[in-house]
Amino acid sequence: MAREVKVYEVKDYRADIDSDWCPGCGDFGILAAIQQALYRLQIPPHKVAVCSGIGCSGKTPHYLRAYGFHTLHGRVLPFATGLKLANHGLTVIAVGGDGDGYGIGAGYFINAGRRNVDFTYIVFNNEVYGLTKGQAAPTLPRGAKTKSMPEENVQQGLNPIALAVGAGYTFVARGFALDVKHLSELIARGIAHRGSAFIDVLQTCPTYNDIHTREWYLGLDRPEKRPRLYKLEEAGFDPVVTDPEDPEEIRAKQISAIAKSYEWGERIPIGVFYQVELPTFEDNLREKGILGEVPLAEADPFSRDVTELVEALR
Ligand code: SF4
Repeated sequence: MAREVKVYEVKDYRADIDSDWCPGCGDFGILAAIQQALYRLQIPPHKVAVCSGIGCSGKTPHYLRAYGFHTLHGRVLPFATGLKLANHGLTVIAVGGDGDGYGIGAGYFINAGRRNVDFTYIVFNNEVYGLTKGQAAPTLPRGAKTKSMPEENVQQGLNPIALAVGAGYTFVARGFALDVKHLSELIARGIAHRGSAFIDVLQTCPTYNDIHTREWYLGLDRPEKRPRLYKLEEAGFDPVVTDPEDPEEIRAKQISAIAKSYEWGERIPIGVFYQVELPTFEDNLREKGILGEVPLAEADPFSRDVTELVEALR
């Protein structure tokens, strides 16, 4: 008799825990988009591991039905890397805020891109440290002053897309937290991508960021109500490297992604900026014989003779 194949529903990815995010927070949209992406791909919840840093976004694994780890401030990517190497049969998703990832975790952010581990990193970019009362985070532009800041920001805001392309991420995208359908498509593409996928999500924080609000992104503050956000795919932008062996094409696509990422203010692009299929960190370790085909977590513990190793450690 043929075995029945389980078809997952969106609710299968929801944990039975009430959220304590503020009403109207963009985090709800990102959480829903992750759940919908997993549903689109029909990945069993027990094959998914979600880890987070510290901040409002750090609570995301609590609200998802999957393996979850709420890790240390700025350290989510080392955890995600370890998770993937220990059990490369899992779909690994790392989440965190812009302060967590681009501030305290900036070194990890850059070096994870260089490695190209097969995971998806989603950054909840609301430009403030929401959990600690709205201080300026690394993406807040110079001169901006949110309602909890006593003075204008005197530091330059960084460009995560340009940084990610330069660091070597092989899938680089930007989404909007309140366009859940589009964001879930981006996340599904990121998860399906073999390699490090990075998705910066413009996330509204109605409690502390009163500058880049839902109304501002959607252009409702303008007389003509013209949205600031537009989709790269609808504008004919081509992010995909067709020949990964061709360094000229890679460079050209990286340059056009970086140039496009500096468009901000009147018009703000969302969608995929850059994508290339290159060997992953796991592929490179496998080639050296360091990583096996079978995940360590599933390997037979008695299949290797470790006498020599034990003797060496005596
Ligand atoms: Fe969301 Fe901002 Fe509230 Fe945090 S402080 S839960 S980011 S609205």
